[in-house]
Amino acid sequence: MPDIAPKVPAKKLSQYRVSGEIPVPVLINWLSIAAVPLLAFFAFRSMGRGEHITSALLILFATLMLSNLLVYVACGHQTFQRRAFIVLTTIMFCYLAIFALEDGSAIIWLFAYPPIVFYISEARVGVGTCVMGFTGVILLFSPLAEQSLDLPYSPSFRITMVVALGFEMVTCYILDRSRRRSKLGLLAMAKEFEYAAKHDALTGLANRREALDQLDAEYERYLRSERPFSVLLADIDLFKSVNDTYGHHVGDELIVLVADTLREECRKVDTIARWGGEEYLVLLPETEEDEAVQIANRVREAIAKKAIVVEQSAVHCTASLGVASIKGAESIDKLLQRSDEALYRAKTLGRNRVCAHQDVETS
Ligand code: GH3
Ligand code: MG
Ligand code: MG
Repeated sequence: MPDIAPKVPAKKLSQYRVSGEIPVPVLINWLSIAAVPLLAFFAFRSMGRGEHITSALLILFATLMLSNLLVYVACGHQTFQRRAFIVLTTIMFCYLAIFALEDGSAIIWLFAYPPIVFYISEARVGVGTCVMGFTGVILLFSPLAEQSLDLPYSPSFRITMVVALGFEMVTCYILDRSRRRSKLGLLAMAKEFEYAAKHDALTGLANRREALDQLDAEYERYLRSERPFSVLLADIDLFKSVNDTYGHHVGDELIVLVADTLREECRKVDTIARWGGEEYLVLLPETEEDEAVQIANRVREAIAKKAIVVEQSAVHCTASLGVASIKGAESIDKLLQRSDEALYRAKTLGRNRVCAHQDVETS
C-alpha cells in the first residue's frame, strides 16, 4: 500500500513541540531575566569589597544577557538567541571558576550549566560543551594551573567537585536522551494517528472526511479564482455478486485493484478517496467537465482491463462513473448530489459507462 505514514520526523527534533514542553526561546528568556538580578546582586557585593573589575564584568554580563533578550524580542531569531546565550553563559561560568569569585564558592554555579545546555541545544552540542567544560575543570584543578593561578580550592573540594560534576553531566545526558526518545515516539505516534484519521486502511486512499476537507479547500480556491473543478464518483458494478461468488477477501482485493488503477490514471494534484464500500470519489482541481469526462473514460477503460487471479482464473470488474463540475455559487452538497445523479444514470443505462450531469439534465 503506498502513502505509508511517515515514522520519523524529517526536521530537527527541537523544531517540533510536544504539548506541555517549554519552548527553548521562552526558557532562554526566563533564564536571562533571572540572571540579571542575580548578576546585579553579586556585582553589588563585589563593589562593596572593592573588586571593581569583577563588579563591572558582572554588570557587563547582565547587560549582554538583557541585550540578547531584547534582540530576540525585536527580531525573533531563535538560533542567534540560543547561540549567543550559550556563548555568554560559557564565558561567564569560565570566569566564575577561573577567578574563584565569592571566595571560591561561585564555581558551584557550574552545576546549572549541563541541564540548561542539554535542554536548549541539540544532543551533540550538549555533549560537546559538557566534555569541554569537564576537561576545563580538570585542567583548572590540575597542578599545571596551580602554578599560575592562586585558587582557594582544597584537595577534597576538587575531588568532590570533579566527581559530582561528572556524575551530573552523565545523568543529564541519560535523562536528555530519554526525553528526546520519548518525544520522537510521541511525534511518530501523532503522525500515525493523523495518517489513520485521513486515510482508508484497506486502500491507503484518502477517506471520506479527508475528501470533504479537500473539497472545501478546492471550493474556497474556486470562489477566489473562479477556476472550476470537477468530481468523479466511481462505483464498481455488480460488486455484491463478486463477494457472493468469490468471498469477501476477493472483493477486498478488487477494491484495492480499482484504487491502484485510479492512482495510476489520475494526476498528482487530484485527490482520490474511498467514498464508501466500493465507491470512490476523485476531485479534479481546475478541470472543466469535458476534460473530466475524458479522464473518467480513461479510468473506466483502465479498470475494465485489470483483473485479479482467483484459482487460476481471472476475475474482472467494471465501474460506472458520474461526473459533475462546479457551477455558479452552488454548494459542495449540491455538486455531490449532481455527481451522484450522474452515477445513477450511468448505472441505469447499463453500467460500465460514464455520465456527466449535463447529460442527465438534457436527457
Ligand atoms: P451496482 O452495480 O448497482 O453498484 O451493484 P453492486 O452489487 O455493486 O451494489 P450494491 O450496493 O448492491 O453492493 C455493494 C456491495 O459492496 C455490498 C457490500 O457488502 C459490499 N461491500 C461494501 N464494502 C465492502 C468492503 O470493504 N469489502 C468487500 N469485500 N465488500 C464490501
Ligand atoms: Mg456497486
Ligand atoms: Mg455502491
